[in-house]
Amino acid sequence: MIIVLKPSATEEQIDHIVEKVTDLGLRTDVSKGSARTLIGVIGDEDKIRSAPLQAFPGVEKVMPILKPYKLASREMQEEPSVVDLGHGVKVGGGNLMMIAGPCAIESEERLRSIGESVKASGANVLRGGAYKPRTSPYSYQGMGEEGLKILQSVGNDLGMPTITEVMDPRQVHVVAEYADVLQIGARNMQNFNLLKEVGESKHPVLLKRGMSATVKDLLMSAEYVLAGGNKDVILCERGVCSFDKSTRNMLDLAMVPNVKETCHLPVVVDPSHATGRPELIPSMSLASVAAGADGVHIEVHDCPEEAMSDGPQALLPEQYAEVMEQMRKLAEVLGRSIPEPLVAV
Ligand code: PEP
Ligand code: MN
Repeated sequence: MIIVLKPSATEEQIDHIVEKVTDLGLRTDVSKGSARTLIGVIGDEDKIRSAPLQAFPGVEKVMPILKPYKLASREMQEEPSVVDLGHGVKVGGGNLMMIAGPCAIESEERLRSIGESVKASGANVLRGGAYKPRTSPYSYQGMGEEGLKILQSVGNDLGMPTITEVMDPRQVHVVAEYADVLQIGARNMQNFNLLKEVGESKHPVLLKRGMSATVKDLLMSAEYVLAGGNKDVILCERGVCSFDKSTRNMLDLAMVPNVKETCHLPVVVDPSHATGRPELIPSMSLASVAAGADGVHIEVHDCPEEAMSDGPQALLPEQYAEVMEQMRKLAEVLGRSIPEPLVAV
């Protein structure tokens, strides 16, 4: 249910409603919009129906939330969410999150060199996997905690927030100790225990769409994280399985405006995993910006043939610089802005 407050509702009235609803064993989510305040009431549907919500002072009306995802829906919050990623970087509401870096962290020297080059091109979030979800148990599994330490050190030196994947609820604590943003990979989008665990974290979560997940599945998974108390959720389209094997996955770009119609969370697009083909990444990156994405996630490697993971889809640093330049021009036309490249001195 959503409690719509009168424009004249006072802070005391809001606190009173929150206290009483919480006493009934229900959860509240207060959303202060520019026009008025809404209080979402979440929990047992029978309890909600029998609660005297209309009777509280300051209430204008009480409405059901029609969507199965409640906290993620625009009914609950009309304005787009803006998520603070640290180091002064934000995503959502016109702020673009330009994520770049190698698929896997391989060594400090290599991550630093890739990080410096993508930062110079305007990337504002550094990525690198320390725990890799590989189809084969014999493939490279990542550097683990040692890799996380490298990511933290390079991110700090470059002044960039970092993002890395967490695969297991038991890893959330250690990943959160070193990284700024927790990535939930496509294969774990419906790992509900993991979603509950990151829901209790204070770190922003980038939730990737599962390869066979519908938009509704994705939003329901986001709801798990939001329901745990973590409001900083960013969605990521990375392509879905298709009958057509000419690309690694099928990039569903319509998902961006589709999700934004009903959900206030930022949406970024990952053309690297969606296409698996470097020659398709520039055009799909531009299309992502044009579709209204709040960011673009691209894998970059200085020597793809030596990459421990996803080398064939990596862009070279100079190719990344070029696509960033093109995206910057497009974003400008669309009234959004991508961080400026650093001018070499
Ligand atoms: C990744 O970002 O390296 C990754 C494994 O992505 P996905 O979960 O989308 O396959
Ligand atoms: Mn990858």
